[in-house]
Amino acid sequence: MKFRKLVAPVIAVALFASLAFASGTTGSLSADEALTALMEGNAKFVSGDVEHLVANAQPARRIDTGTNGQKPYAIVVTCADSRLSPEILFDKGIGEVFVVRVAGNVVAPHELGSIEYAAEHLGAKLIMVLGHSKCGAVSAAYDYFTTPEALRPELSNNLESIVDSIEPAVLKAVTAGTGKAGAEDINVDEVVKQIKKKSRVIREMTETSGVKVVGGKYDVVTGAVSIHADHE
Ligand SMILES: [Zn+2]
Repeated sequence: MKFRKLVAPVIAVALFASLAFASGTTGSLSADEALTALMEGNAKFVSGDVEHLVANAQPARRIDTGTNGQKPYAIVVTCADSRLSPEILFDKGIGEVFVVRVAGNVVAPHELGSIEYAAEHLGAKLIMVLGHSKCGAVSAAYDYFTTPEALRPELSNNLESIVDSIEPAVLKAVTAGTGKAGAEDINVDEVVKQIKKKSRVIREMTETSGVKVVGGKYDVVTGAVSIHADHE
């Protein structure tokens, strides 16, 4: 009995450590490898067969990253919507994904600074802007800017700053006649462009350090992430 009591925890720790290693979380991945890792995880999530989320949320993983530091290989810029937890939908655990979340997945100085920190100091090579279907922030911005100015609801300065950031996408969607779903896609493309335009650090890293910025969209019903055309 003494032997079993001693050995079981040792085996458990070794198992969890090997699972964490097997998932490729201990070293930095290239942007393409990171994208593959995310999409493979999303396929598992869609099928309902999540693996790494469970393995990489175990105590051994927490102790490893807590003691030795984080080395996330991907930065996900996504909406604050409660249905969009990147770790869950990409089947990833602690320390794998650096997440920046804000309603409408837009970028202002705070978000850009967070992205720069993760790319420059933590070594993440992939930046994914992830929009989603049925986005309340995009829908609200769409309704706001398609309402005659005199009839628009009064917004707080803080909310106004979010809808203002989504305005370019809404105006393009109205011109193209794509509706709200199209505005969600256009907003992702706009934010991808803005990250490279507004952040000199990221722009230079895309030119010299193998950093890539890609856009994607999450379907809140199917759980699938689709990647937008290459923005490079
Ligand atoms: Zn949203």
